[in-house]
Amino acid sequence: MKRERFRERIRRPWHKLFRLAANELSPPDSVLFRRPECFGLQLIRHCNSRCRHCDAWNSSRGSDGLSFQDWLRLLHDIRAWAGPCRIEIASGEPFLDPRLLPLIARARRLGLRATVISNGTLIDHGMARRIAASDLSSLLISWDGIRPETHDLGRGVSGSHARVLKAIASLEAAGGLARTMISTIVSGHNHRELTALVSYVMEKGLQGIIFQALQPFAGTDWRDLWPKDVSGVQAAIDELLRLKKGGARILNPPSQLAAMKRYFADPLRHYPEFTCRSGSRMLISPEGSIHYCPSMSPVGNIRDSSLAAIQASAAARARLGDIRKCHRPCILMNCYFRGSLGESLRALFLPPGGILRSLARRRQEPP
Ligand code: SF4
Ligand code: SF4
Repeated sequence: MKRERFRERIRRPWHKLFRLAANELSPPDSVLFRRPECFGLQLIRHCNSRCRHCDAWNSSRGSDGLSFQDWLRLLHDIRAWAGPCRIEIASGEPFLDPRLLPLIARARRLGLRATVISNGTLIDHGMARRIAASDLSSLLISWDGIRPETHDLGRGVSGSHARVLKAIASLEAAGGLARTMISTIVSGHNHRELTALVSYVMEKGLQGIIFQALQPFAGTDWRDLWPKDVSGVQAAIDELLRLKKGGARILNPPSQLAAMKRYFADPLRHYPEFTCRSGSRMLISPEGSIHYCPSMSPVGNIRDSSLAAIQASAAARARLGDIRKCHRPCILMNCYFRGSLGESLRALFLPPGGILRSLARRRQEPP
């Protein structure tokens, strides 16, 4: 089993490299080689946080969601069509859904890597042990401030900070910290605490920390968090760039951090220098609708067609063409940002899970 996993770690970056090259070099409407690099599974919309920049918590639980069998069929379809790629389960709070860990176990058996993005509030000692024993490849926990009042202000529920700390302590006790990352929204209320979060991540031995600029989603209270002191936020981002250069495990490419500085100065500007990655991802809603970009209309439903047929459809081809021409500010979000080719190659081979780390890990974990 360990030998098989080691082989998989070596093979995966090459598969991703092939996928990256095929997607970059083939025309947007080509169906021969183009495949998504990642599939975002939205198991549920509902969330137990009350974040000011998000409205997931306003969503009802819904009654027309996909069944467990539907999700399993989807996993098989993903594996058969796109190969050993990554699935990402996020938004609302995935740990509210009891199907989460069984689904991850099935994905892993199919050779798919699973990442979960969570607010961390439901991870107690028992859940941390289940996560550590599961086949989850990585867990991202949202955490915005070293001070309780900072985190709780943005997340809208008092006590959220304490729950995140408890989640991290529980994961540490269960031996799951090396697969855990922190995801932090950069905004007006927390920019003085970003470097303290980086220090925490380094001291604790977490896998890394990734930052994302606050985005103005309609219908949310994002304005409460928008920075009044733009130069202060830019100085904080400069400090992140400096820390990253010095070896801190900050997972954003430098070009994304640099673009964040421009974004806070002019939040409406577009970014023709970047290509949106949403064309290389497929999002599957709780009802089975398929989106590339969540702001654009769906291109099909897995209840009606296979993934291959959906990608080959006229609607999908048109949407992929639209995405190529779109450079709106949401292009800076972690799901959609694609840096330079050099940064993409570094991300493939040098980060956690990359081939060089795999070789290093072999010494600690003989097959
Ligand atoms: S934790 Fe995530 S999904 Fe839940 S309300 Fe906040 S941003 Fe939205
Ligand atoms: S830039 Fe934003 S709106 Fe445009 S395709 Fe990407 S995610 Fe969608």
